[in-house]
Amino acid sequence: MYLSPTPIEAGLRRVCPRCGKGKLFKAGLTLEVVETCSDCNLALARNDSGDGPAVFMVFILGALLVPAALLLDALVSPPLWFHAVIWTIAALGICVFSMQPIKAYVVALQFKHRPQTWE
Ligand SMILES: [Zn+2]
Repeated sequence: MYLSPTPIEAGLRRVCPRCGKGKLFKAGLTLEVVETCSDCNLALARNDSGDGPAVFMVFILGALLVPAALLLDALVSPPLWFHAVIWTIAALGICVFSMQPIKAYVVALQFKHRPQTWE
């Protein structure tokens, strides 16, 4: 019997949704999930998160960056090239470092609500 982490814990720690110990992703910043958990042997490659993490990312980026861009423009009115550069860098940086936790969160949600598809 495992004490499963909450989906948010599993997402932030990027670990197996059943045991909370084995790593979910292969090494590096990849979104490639390991075949099985190294600790509890759960078939992690069976997850089917599809476009879910990308949709979460689009909503998060929109909610963060659009108000920030509007606020910056209202306060200092920088030239358009400045907006293009700074918001592209911000969007790419946020995407690179938050896609793994968001995908791990979606995988953990699927494991919590549809565990029969993992056995
Ligand atoms: Zn595990």
